[in-house]
Amino acid sequence: MSSDKILWDYEALLERLYSNLPERAKVQPIEIPEFQIIRTGPYTRITNFKQVCDRIRREPRICMRYLLKEIGARGAIDDSGGLTIFLKVSRNTLRQLFRRFLETYVRCSTCGSYHTELRRQGKVWVIRCLACGAETPVRPI
Ligand SMILES: [Zn+2]
Repeated sequence: MSSDKILWDYEALLERLYSNLPERAKVQPIEIPEFQIIRTGPYTRITNFKQVCDRIRREPRICMRYLLKEIGARGAIDDSGGLTIFLKVSRNTLRQLFRRFLETYVRCSTCGSYHTELRRQGKVWVIRCLACGAETPVRPI
């Protein structure tokens, strides 16, 4: 047997192991709290914003940027971790947008787990799955 053959077998084995990973890694459920939303006058406030972002391992500023961009409004995060949007926005709209954020920037497209982290290197953003190890590039916000 030539050494080339041995190397090939080894690589094929590694590849098989790797491709089996998503099936073997158990998808752990994650409890993501609903936004607590208070609307007063022209403002909309998500009181538990930071808490929700912490749960999904995302910087509140990233998630805020996504929501504000989609809504087309300005907003700010206060010291207590709440997000105030300077516009009247319906609960439904906010929840739908957040669901879209979860699908695009949190959920692993390989195994469906929400246990992921977002790695940013300049204009390159990658979702890395903590359950199966898959890496998925996403569009920067
Ligand atoms: Zn995964």
